[in-house]
Amino acid sequence: MPRVVVVGGGVAGLAAAHRLLEVAPDLEVVLLEAQDRLGGTIRSERVDGFVIDRGPDAIITEKPSALKLVERLGLQDRIVRTQDAHRGAYVVAHGRLVPVPEGFALLAPSAWWPLMSSSVLSWSGKIRAAGDLILPRGPEAADESLGGFVARRLGPEMLERLAQPMVGGIYGTAPGVLSLEATMPRFRTLERKHRSVALGLMRGVARMKKLRRGEETAATGARYGLFISFDGGIQVLTDALAASLPGEVRLSTPVRGLDRRGEGFLLKLADGEEIEADGVILATAAHVSARLVEPEDARLAQHLDAIPYGSSVTIALAYRREEIPHPLDAFGFVVPTVEGRSLMACTWSSVKWPGRAPEGMVLLRCFLGGEGRDHAAKLDEETLLADCRRELKRLMGIEAAPSLVRVDRHVEVMPRYRVGHLVRAEQIEARVAALPRLELAGGFTRGVGIPDSVKSGEAAAESLAAQLG
Ligand SMILES: Cc1cc2nc3c(=O)[nH]c(=O)nc-3n(C[C@H](O)[C@H](O)[C@H](O)COP(=O)(O)OP(=O)(O)OC[C@H]3O[C@@H](n4cnc5c(N)ncnc54)[C@H](O)[C@@H]3O)c2cc1C
Repeated sequence: MPRVVVVGGGVAGLAAAHRLLEVAPDLEVVLLEAQDRLGGTIRSERVDGFVIDRGPDAIITEKPSALKLVERLGLQDRIVRTQDAHRGAYVVAHGRLVPVPEGFALLAPSAWWPLMSSSVLSWSGKIRAAGDLILPRGPEAADESLGGFVARRLGPEMLERLAQPMVGGIYGTAPGVLSLEATMPRFRTLERKHRSVALGLMRGVARMKKLRRGEETAATGARYGLFISFDGGIQVLTDALAASLPGEVRLSTPVRGLDRRGEGFLLKLADGEEIEADGVILATAAHVSARLVEPEDARLAQHLDAIPYGSSVTIALAYRREEIPHPLDAFGFVVPTVEGRSLMACTWSSVKWPGRAPEGMVLLRCFLGGEGRDHAAKLDEETLLADCRRELKRLMGIEAAPSLVRVDRHVEVMPRYRVGHLVRAEQIEARVAALPRLELAGGFTRGVGIPDSVKSGEAAAESLAAQLG
C-alpha cells in the first residue's frame, strides 16, 4: 500500500489528508505536525462559558470549498451565523468611533448618501471620492497595488480613512504594496466593465436584490449568510477533520529534511528518525517548505522564500456588560494606520456571534501588528495588554480590568501578497508540477484564508492520488 506523508497539521494539511482518504482510501496516510496540537493557526477555547477563537473567527461562504467540506463532514448542525441585528462596524476617525458608512464595500461605496452624510471623510475627500463616477478607466496593467487603485479611483483620503483599515485586518499588509489581482480582482473587473467602481457596485447590489427576491438559495452560501462559524468556534472544523483520519498522526514531530529516494522520498525528523514515503504533501508556510524542497529544486525554494510573511497579535478580553459604556451596536471597529495607534482592529465577538459569552458578559478580540508593526509579536504580554487596555479606554471608555485575558502571538504565519504575486504563484505551481509525487499546500499562492487553504490542500491530495493511482 503506497504511503503518503503530509507535513503540517493546519487546516491545509488536515484537508489534504482527509481528501486523500476520500479519493484513495487504500493509501496509507501519515500526518506529521511540529506542534503538540493540530489546527495550526486555528485554535478555539471553551472556558467559563466563553468560546474564544484564538486565531481565525470566521469562514467566508462566497468561496465554496470550506462550506462543501463542512457539509461532507456533517457539521451543518454546528454552524452558527453572524447576529445580523448588529451588522456593521465602526472606524476610528480623529480619535473617535464613527460608523462605517452603510453600503461601504471594503474599498468603495455601493451607496452615496451614507458616505456623504458621514463624518469619516472631509468634504474635499467626499468630492474626490465622487470623482470615481466620472473618471475614465485606468491603464491596462497586469497588476497594481490595491492602495494605488483606490487612490486613483476614489482619492487618497478614501484609501487612508476607510479602505486601508478595512483590508488591513484581512491581509495585515500595507495597501501600497498589496497586489490587487491576487486579493480583490473583482474591483479591477468592476472598473473594466463599468468604468466607475461605485457604479459597478451599485448595479451589483441591485442585481443581488433581484436575485434574492427570485431564488434565495441560488448562491452556495445564501442559506448561511456571508460568514459562518461553529458553536464551539472555528476549531470545530479542524477537530472534525482530525477525528476523520484513521491513519497515523504524530504531534511534536517537526520535519527537518526531505530527500529523493528512487521515485519516493525519505523524510528526516528532528530527532534523527527517518520515514520513507511514496508521496509527500508539504502543508507548511512557504518559508518552511522552501527549506524542505531546496535540495530537490533550489529555484522553487527561492520563489517560496520571496513570499514575505507577517506577524500579528490577538488579545481576547472579557468584561461584564455594565463595565462597557458603549451601546455595542456593531461587530466592532477598525483603526486606520494614519490614526497612529497600536490597535489595528477590535471585534465585539459576543455581539458578532451567538454563544460566545455567558449572560451579562461581553467578549472582545483586539488585533495588533500588521505591516510595519510586526514587532508587536515580540513584545511581552504585559506590554501588549497595557497597550490594548489604554486604547480600549480611549476609544470605548472601558476603565475596568478584564476578568479574562488571552494573548496569542501569530509569528510569521500570514503570507503577504505583493504586487506581481500571481506571476510568482504561477512559477511556483509550474515548478511543483514538474516534481513527481511532491505537492505543496497552504495559503501562500491563491488566497490567504481558510477556504483557499482547504482548496489548496484538497487539490494537492487529488493530484498526488492521481499520480500514485
Ligand atoms: C490572527 C489571524 C486571524 C485570521 N482570521 C481568519 C479568518 O477569520 N478567516 C479566514 O478564513 N482566515 C483567517 N486567517 C487565516 C487562516 O488562519 C489561514 O489561512 C489558515 O489557518 C492557514 O492554514 P494552513 O494549514 O495553511 O497554515 P497553518 O495554520 O500555519 O498550519 C501550518 C502547520 O504546519 C506546521 N509545521 C510548520 N513547520 C513544520 C515542520 N517542519 N514539520 C511539521 N509541521 C510543521 C505548523 O506547526 C502548523 O500547524 C487568520 C490568520 C491569522 C493569523
